[in-house]
Amino acid sequence: MDLNIDFKEKFESRHISPDGLETSEMLATTGVSSLEELIDQTIPTQIRLKRPLNLPAPKSEFEYLTNLKQLASKNKVFKSFIGQGYYDTITPSVILRNIFENPGWYTQYTPYQAEISQGRLQALLNFQTMVLDLTGMEIANASLLDEATAAAEAMFMQFSLRKNKDANTFFVSEQLFPQTIDVLRTRSAPFGIELIIGNHETIELTDSMFGAIVQYPAGNGVVYNYSDFAARAHEKGIKLTVVADILSLCLLSPPGEWGADIVVGSTQRFGVPMGFGGPHAAFFATKEEYKRSMPGRIIGVTIDTAGNYALRMALQTREQHIRRDKATSNICTAQALLAIMAGMYAAYHGPEGLKAIAKRTHGLAILLSDALQSLGYLQLNDSYFDTVRFDLGALAGPIHAEALNNEMNLFYQGSIASVTVDETTSIEDIKTIVRFFAKVKGKSIHEVDIDSLKNTLHTTIPAALERQSAFLSHPVFNLHHSEHEMLRYIKSLEAKDLSLCHSMIPLGSCTMKLNATTEMIPVTWPEFSKIHPFAPTDQVGGYMQLIDELNNWLSEITGFAAMSFQPNAGAQGEYTGLMVIRAYHAGRGEPHRNVALIPSSAHGTNPASAAMAGMKIVVVKCDVNGNIDVNDLKLRAEEHKDTLSCLMVTYPSTHGVFEESIMEICEIIHQNGGQVYMDGANMNAQVGLTSPATIGADVCHLNLHKTFCIPHGGGGPGVGPIGVAKHLVPYLPAHAVVDIHKEKSISAVSAAPWGSASILLISHAYIAMMGAEGLTNATRYAILNANYIKSRLEKHYPVLYSGSQGRCAHEMILDCRAFKNFGIEVTDIAKRLMDYGFHAPTVSFPVAGTLMVEPTESEPKHELDRFCDALISIREEINEVENGSADRLNNPLKQAPHTAAVVTIDDWDRPYSRQQAAFPLPYVSEHKFWPAVGRVNDTHGDRTLICSCPPIEEYAEA
Ligand SMILES: *Cc1c(COP(=O)(O)O)cnc(C)c1O
Repeated sequence: MDLNIDFKEKFESRHISPDGLETSEMLATTGVSSLEELIDQTIPTQIRLKRPLNLPAPKSEFEYLTNLKQLASKNKVFKSFIGQGYYDTITPSVILRNIFENPGWYTQYTPYQAEISQGRLQALLNFQTMVLDLTGMEIANASLLDEATAAAEAMFMQFSLRKNKDANTFFVSEQLFPQTIDVLRTRSAPFGIELIIGNHETIELTDSMFGAIVQYPAGNGVVYNYSDFAARAHEKGIKLTVVADILSLCLLSPPGEWGADIVVGSTQRFGVPMGFGGPHAAFFATKEEYKRSMPGRIIGVTIDTAGNYALRMALQTREQHIRRDKATSNICTAQALLAIMAGMYAAYHGPEGLKAIAKRTHGLAILLSDALQSLGYLQLNDSYFDTVRFDLGALAGPIHAEALNNEMNLFYQGSIASVTVDETTSIEDIKTIVRFFAKVKGKSIHEVDIDSLKNTLHTTIPAALERQSAFLSHPVFNLHHSEHEMLRYIKSLEAKDLSLCHSMIPLGSCTMKLNATTEMIPVTWPEFSKIHPFAPTDQVGGYMQLIDELNNWLSEITGFAAMSFQPNAGAQGEYTGLMVIRAYHAGRGEPHRNVALIPSSAHGTNPASAAMAGMKIVVVKCDVNGNIDVNDLKLRAEEHKDTLSCLMVTYPSTHGVFEESIMEICEIIHQNGGQVYMDGANMNAQVGLTSPATIGADVCHLNLHKTFCIPHGGGGPGVGPIGVAKHLVPYLPAHAVVDIHKEKSISAVSAAPWGSASILLISHAYIAMMGAEGLTNATRYAILNANYIKSRLEKHYPVLYSGSQGRCAHEMILDCRAFKNFGIEVTDIAKRLMDYGFHAPTVSFPVAGTLMVEPTESEPKHELDRFCDALISIREEINEVENGSADRLNNPLKQAPHTAAVVTIDDWDRPYSRQQAAFPLPYVSEHKFWPAVGRVNDTHGDRTLICSCPPIEEYAEA
């Protein structure tokens, strides 16, 4: 009897799909005798790790969850009345189970391939419509990372739009949440923008101001009437951003009706758990005239080839790749899944339901205020929505202690305690608070007549600010109020979208690997989801341990000294890393170092992030093999040696190759006084075999939503922590509310101290269950799977770039440019793959007219084979166009994708069969995935931009 862990219990064998037999077949096809031989041919010897990773022994899934329960119990779930941008909320169970906990939604990719993404595009359009209605604005995007970064994006948009190019000051109301002011501070510094922080009622507006920002209700909870301020600002040509609380807008007159030019905020309290800081979706809404300057992705309505209603990402969809450092922002991964949840929350409750929640919240705040005032407490806010503040004087200490005894967290500033009420607050909670406030004064709750107070509540919202306009009148927000209707609506949208539940999503650079269920389960445990990011340290021992362990493990994996988990996405990691480098140079008396060298093959977010960090971008050439041209690099580095800040380099390269000269490249940068920033998107080819520190980098970001199993969520959430070498540790970002300060910290880059903390659980679980050997095997198999595909496909499609021994890393580029000669574009292949049941690989990055394929270690051989068979079959269809046996325009590629409606039409008149259209290979008929719409019309969509749910009449027509 062997009592050791059974093979089947090893998580590694659940995560990495190919088994022993498949492995030997794949090795044979690839032309090597062992995995080790393949790795030796792929990764240059000089950068290989000298020892195995030092990580704890792997746990089984069962063991992991059992242990994690213990860790979870070190978090204390107190009732939160802290407010400050984070509120407890009730996630409707139908949304919790069928979206948040459902791989059919969370394993989707960003909806670049619109025809197989109509469900989430509709859900995101609902989100945009909800934001527009509640804010009273004209155009909204499909989410930003958090409230503070959304405010920073707004500041930057105002800065870019300013007419007077000398205007460089920005008025910031002192009543913004401190974390928002902190992020504004970070973002303003590189551009020489001066923040004027003050009182909006007394501030003198000057010609040097290009913009202003206020919060509604303000950070202290007061509902100010800003219309005079807005008018004063507009007289001076100053644009106004309003940070608004989404729930309050059900009762308050929307900022769009009293002069806001931009409205931003968080939609967290619409059913998305606090999760110790995230992830949550922020919103950004503005006027139609600014649509081309707006950051983030916008979903728009268009038509498909049959003229039917269809959705797609509009305007600046791929703008970072096109506009590079001129892009409006670096946002790539945003918060799609959370935006979808918030939109569904609004659809489930509808306008009346939301109003009722807002009124009840407001009412409980009034009740608390009235009750405590009757006990003789001084309440400071005259007009408020959900937050009341009490000046406690000498009683502050005892009240604080009593609150803790009752497992309640209030928010304290000196002698002032503020209490923020939310959707989860009950009358019993209010009574509890009244009881201990009474006790501290030596009184009893019986001295307060709660029942009669309840019957005499008067709104404290000034009449002028009471909302008059209707909102959410579209049917989508009025048809799904019963659970059956909601469930069916969610499922009908889900059914339109291809996710990892259907087939592999071979997106180069995006690493769509398994998001294991065990990794996901703890995210919605209350011990993690119901924790406020500003909860007292002694209540969050579990989170601290989790973060500490993940910090140690990722430091071991990268070879770096420490990580910061603040950045909410890869591109935010890039920006953070560059700001750290900037601070490092400044700290050494070299603030003038501001040149970033960026290879021409870099991901578009690299130049966009460098621009945000105020750097001057110098492009470095690539040679014919796709490698960085070392001579050109040397030339540029020497030319700029006095002002060189850094190199941004992706490794293995965006071309999917381990460049052999990488150490020399890093050397050259260091010799010329620069730092090396490594874009870690391709870390899946490194873990356990080499590392960023080994190749000579100083800082890198990791996309935990690529390499470390956080699902893509249809376009977010993401987590983009940065790892840094020892000399950069003192500069890692601080936070305005929670003390995580290092000696020379830069100010914050995100609203929450540890960013989207709750989903760190996923990466923690992955590493804990894989262990050192498992993680290293994942890398080996990622490389094997890619080289296997390469071996099968290179006879049919030229593979661009490979290493000196003919190997790719974990991904490869298929060159489709030659097919253009007879009219076949790479997009036609991408769309045709849908008919075969696949999501296209990455299209036209990093080389236009190509496909970049990344299978990951999680795909079994037979799935890789199906994918190769599909591409080979498509290649034969291309041949037919080439040799003239198929029509140049009316062929399965040009007409792809084929919907069920098209294929079942009575008068089929195409020169190819219905069978070929929809069931081109035998495997397809076993598991057909029908695209919901035909090919979408991009030009039509941009010409007649519609970014909210169209009226019911048009709906009916569609
Ligand atoms: C995905 C990716 C990024 C951006 O990451 P986000 O999380 O989407 O912001 C940057 N660089 C490369 C090479 C990538 O593949």
